[in-house]
Amino acid sequence: ENPIPNSTVTKTYVLTQPPNPNPSFDDAKENVAANGDRIVGFTCPRKAPVSTTVARKLSLGSQMEARRAKTGQEMDPLFERQSNGNSRIMVFVRLRPMMKKEKEAGSRSCVRIVNRRDVYLTEFASEHDYLRLKRVRGRHFTFDASFPESATQQEVYSTTTSELVEAVLQGRNGSVFCYGATGAGKTYTMLGTVENPGVMVLAIKDLFTKVRQRSCDGNHVVHLSYLEGIVAAGLSQYRAYSTDEVMALLLQGNKNRTTEPTRMNETSSRSHAILQVVVEYRTRDAAMNIVNRVGKLSLIDLAGSERALATDQRTLRSIEGANINRSLLALSSCINALVEGKKHIPYRNSKLTQLLKDSLGGACNTVMIANISPSNLSFGETQNTLHWADRAKEIRNKAYETT
Ligand code: ADP
Ligand code: MG
Repeated sequence: ENPIPNSTVTKTYVLTQPPNPNPSFDDAKENVAANGDRIVGFTCPRKAPVSTTVARKLSLGSQMEARRAKTGQEMDPLFERQSNGNSRIMVFVRLRPMMKKEKEAGSRSCVRIVNRRDVYLTEFASEHDYLRLKRVRGRHFTFDASFPESATQQEVYSTTTSELVEAVLQGRNGSVFCYGATGAGKTYTMLGTVENPGVMVLAIKDLFTKVRQRSCDGNHVVHLSYLEGIVAAGLSQYRAYSTDEVMALLLQGNKNRTTEPTRMNETSSRSHAILQVVVEYRTRDAAMNIVNRVGKLSLIDLAGSERALATDQRTLRSIEGANINRSLLALSSCINALVEGKKHIPYRNSKLTQLLKDSLGGACNTVMIANISPSNLSFGETQNTLHWADRAKEIRNKAYETT
């Protein structure tokens, strides 16, 4: 079923394995999706039950929990996510390096990350105050992890997303959002560059490596689609035969953003880019009945948050009236409703939230990465982003049904 009614998807990339001499890929087959889009899948025989990995991780998790109870030491947040029945959204912050342009504009850094968790935000009123180190406004935030300027793409991927890739292979849903103002580093984090590929690319590579390593007790079918600008029209479809090619396709999909700086702001601040990977896994249960499990991983480079961040009700209404970034507002309303524990969550208000219904508040591993700039010129945006991220920590997803 097409997740977006009256599809407004601009691009769908379909990833398959390369025509592989390995006989295990002989039964690769093509499926036709219910909505008429052609989805190309492949099947891969598995060698060892997936559950050994999970079992190992879970026992490692409870060992750590026991150790923590003994020593009072803080638990690794990623294990917390697994062992905590009412799993809450994991919230991370990534601080990007100061850009040349910002330095030239006389920026000073107003963000400091300490202990890989704590973010200190300080505003200096003027150069005079700055020189006297007089703090004017500031706040301290704590997140599951905070990445300083020096954090590598691999580090960000491993800490935030690699567990979700594993979970998707077990038939669970997962989603990763990058949130922040235009220019804060969302696309860099999600897509990256050819030299420094981001979370989307590293996740796909990892997924395929893991699928190949797995073996005989079931089959995996991988569907991959890249939706860009879910408010635009048109549909095109691509097939990729390798992860490098996925990278090329993703870059192509983002070409307007990455190669044309003037258009970049125009496009990326108004559209969301979503990479969705659906992994179907067929296996047999204890009674030898065939069981189908489906896991969906959504990687989302959200539109620039600056327009949706208005706190003033009047502005909010005028933004809604102008229909700018309605979906981001809808996302914020869903998050507010989830935080406040409301029964009715307004998923229907936008296509973005409809698409993410099962990724927010549902049985899903959810990760938010809040991207921020160090520059004091972006103080307001950074403060809003951190405030929003701080609030997102309160969202709890439903507990998993254990199978
Ligand atoms: P956004 O998608 O949030 O609008 P971008 O990802 O396009 O922002 O980042 C703005 C600029 O900063 C780009 O030139 C990008 O390459 C650079 N940049 C962002 N994050 C980093 C980082 N962690 N390391 C190096 N350069 C970065
Ligand atoms: Mg961007």
